[in-house]
Amino acid sequence: MITQEQVDLIRNDPVAKGSLLIGGDWVSSRDGATLDVESPINGHALTTIADAGAADVDLAVTSARAAFDSGVWSRAAPLHRKKVLNRIADLIERDQVDLAVLGSRDNGTEIAFSYNAEPGSAAATFRYYAEAIDKMYGQIAPTSEDVLALVHREAIGVVGAIVPWNFPLMIGAWKLAAALSVGNSVVLKPAETASLTLLKLAAICLEAGLPEGVLNVVTGQGGKSGEALGLHMDVDVLTFTGSGGVGRRLLEYSAASNLKRVYLELGGKSPNIVFSDAADLDAAAMVSCLGIFRNSGQVCVSGSRLLVQESIQAAFVEKLVACAQGLKLGDPLDLTTQMGAVNSAAQLSKNLAYAAGAVADGADLRTGGAQTNAKSGGYYMAPTIFDNVAPSSRLACDEVFGPILSVIPFKNEEDAVRIANSTEFGLASAVWTADLSKAHRMVRQIRAGVVHVNTYGGADLTVPLGGHGQSGNGYDRSLHALDKFTNLKSAWIKL
Ligand code: NAD
Repeated sequence: MITQEQVDLIRNDPVAKGSLLIGGDWVSSRDGATLDVESPINGHALTTIADAGAADVDLAVTSARAAFDSGVWSRAAPLHRKKVLNRIADLIERDQVDLAVLGSRDNGTEIAFSYNAEPGSAAATFRYYAEAIDKMYGQIAPTSEDVLALVHREAIGVVGAIVPWNFPLMIGAWKLAAALSVGNSVVLKPAETASLTLLKLAAICLEAGLPEGVLNVVTGQGGKSGEALGLHMDVDVLTFTGSGGVGRRLLEYSAASNLKRVYLELGGKSPNIVFSDAADLDAAAMVSCLGIFRNSGQVCVSGSRLLVQESIQAAFVEKLVACAQGLKLGDPLDLTTQMGAVNSAAQLSKNLAYAAGAVADGADLRTGGAQTNAKSGGYYMAPTIFDNVAPSSRLACDEVFGPILSVIPFKNEEDAVRIANSTEFGLASAVWTADLSKAHRMVRQIRAGVVHVNTYGGADLTVPLGGHGQSGNGYDRSLHALDKFTNLKSAWIKL
């Protein structure tokens, strides 16, 4: 548990300047370029990070390759890798409060939520993959008697991991722990506006005994270091979480360079479907409300399209509005805050533009729609609900990635499925109904990586997360994630 006293003790601590981690050394970018980091809590300067360029990325990849080829980690006994990953998990737990406070200062997430969702989940992820390492076996193929065919699973080499700002530690850990567990080296590229906790995680990895060069971190602008990583001829795999636009660029980089594998965890516009026969409409409203507004809606799987059956639309929207208006919004470092700051001024402007566009398109603004807490100097937006949003409108089809809920009425099951599947995305979804057969039919018909039934947002490391359609390919979490970071190799032996 985290206490307010613990938070208040360190909430204004100076934050050291961020450096690059290359070959075990903390270094500046070669040309000395830096980026200013400001806190979305109040707009104040927090620190600076290095703005890496192609030359820095090249050094980082070279160091990752050298570490991989040396075998210091890639050929270390699984039991040894397990010990180091478990030690990383221990140290994350030791520093959980520091990491949570630093993260909320950097990206604005309310700390009551991020404490578990960020460092808590990162520690659990390192432990999960640590425990997996020495429980995986190769295979013997069922060939004819005169041969023996062995199927090995091998680390691939150098993994480039590019992550977004909404849950940097959680998402970073999904990629790092899985890639490292099987012996790869990694070059990690955090998002410009959320690098600080990942730099601290990298320091923890060194302290825990991860050999130098196995993990390298290049901070800075996506168009510089991200592009250089994507185009590098010696990166074997790119694992990315972020927007569809950048995901497309990564596929182009791969085609233009060495055909590196590209795994994309992209955005969503997830349908949260409430039927009139749902057993507990109050619970449905509460969970739906928190499901879209936590972390100011900056959650890839958030249920941003609320499809509600016409017969209960008016009453259900009333419940949602009451919940939204009752949320405590403000300082992310206050443990009672339920909705913190939007990550950046740019993201806030984007959200406000979507709200203005929806009003112009004729959607009914039921609450919010505007900036709030402006005096703080930070970036806050009131939880916003639009009713009667046209399914084909921009608000219904684009991923806003902010605290804006679109309510869309539907008539019947067929109508709900048609609207649910009408965007380019396919990340998450939910169905609220007391009819078991209807729930199963919906699970089969909705195009999404996950269909929740009578809940929203339930997740576990044992369950894969990935998108269908233009929400991406490949899976984070679970043992399935290891497929991204391993090659199969067969040995064909004549007896
Ligand atoms: P983004 O695509 O703008 O940036 C993601 C990362 O890519 C950052 O590190 C950024 O610096 C880097 N980048 C930017 N331009 C690049 C380029 N030209 N080449 C290489 N790298 C580049 O996304 P964001 O705004 O940081 O994050 C929000 C997006 O992430 C949303 O679309 C959200 O849905 C998605 N997301 C998806 C999941 C999932 O699991 N599917 C989880 C969280 C977030």
